[in-house]
Amino acid sequence: MWPFRAAAPSPTRPTASPEQTEPRFESSYRVNRSYCRSHHKPLTIEFLKKITGPITIPSGRFEARTLSSAAVHFANLPENKLNALQRSALADFKANPGKFSFDGRNSVEELLDAWATLFDNLFFFGTLPKDSRVSVKFKPKSPGVDYLAHCVVWARKSRVTIYDDPGKPLVFILKEAVNSLLHELVHAYLGMYGCHGCHRLWEEEGNSHGIAFLDTMFAVSNGARRLLNFKAPKGEGCKTSLAWDIHDEGTRFPEEEILSRWKISRKALMKSVEGYKEGDGIKKAAKKEAETLKKTQKGERMRMKKKRLMIRFIDSTSDSKALQLRI
Ligand SMILES: [Zn+2]
Ligand SMILES: [Zn+2]
Repeated sequence: MWPFRAAAPSPTRPTASPEQTEPRFESSYRVNRSYCRSHHKPLTIEFLKKITGPITIPSGRFEARTLSSAAVHFANLPENKLNALQRSALADFKANPGKFSFDGRNSVEELLDAWATLFDNLFFFGTLPKDSRVSVKFKPKSPGVDYLAHCVVWARKSRVTIYDDPGKPLVFILKEAVNSLLHELVHAYLGMYGCHGCHRLWEEEGNSHGIAFLDTMFAVSNGARRLLNFKAPKGEGCKTSLAWDIHDEGTRFPEEEILSRWKISRKALMKSVEGYKEGDGIKKAAKKEAETLKKTQKGERMRMKKKRLMIRFIDSTSDSKALQLRI
């Protein structure tokens, strides 16, 4: 889940009605090692190295750290060592720049679908096929929603919802939305295939963004930057995710040594956590927001020109029987 930063409302965007309020998801699982013993399955790098196309992960559940090491392995491969699936995904990206462009030629849904498939084939070895396993929605923020995106997982399906931020130019939103998409795909991947007995351990997914999550996020973000020249908007990444958990979920402050694996300085993390505190933090966030908007005035003019850019409003229903992880 991405933390939400305050933004001014826009009269031109559709507003969400009260009945579309998103529920706050709470995990129904606690650390339960007896569940682990009967559910853990091996997923070795040797097995994954043989993969040349999209695969179906064997039934059963895996430790999040095992899943993480597999995604990290694929995300860190040098360009000349990519497997066939990764090579064809990268070739498609290079041959069809328009499909992945943020200039407004595609609808938001088309753009998110294109990036979701690209990320899946590059980093998650085709385990997150859209529609059959992962659906991606883009919609206006409902009242009471204080985050940018979230992912709901049940069994081996997940739904990623990314919220429009009416205070920002759409061209800026698009890049942010794709960055949120990558973050939520990590949740979908670990949530759909990870063990639900031990996922709350800090070494696994912790309170959403534990070590396995952050290791994966760090590797795929670097992979996206290196292979696709996709750079996350400033200030969003491992540090923000961890700061959210520390501030909102009571995660303990990690040691310097652990933080260094994601290139996070203790000082910067403390500042991020402080940023979530009420009062001064909100003022700082509002000031930063105003500066960002000023810088993107050019983008706003571009948005007005691009009438083709559509936002389709999609209602989402919540299946109360589903396992809903608050991530
Ligand atoms: Zn998250
Ligand atoms: Zn387990």
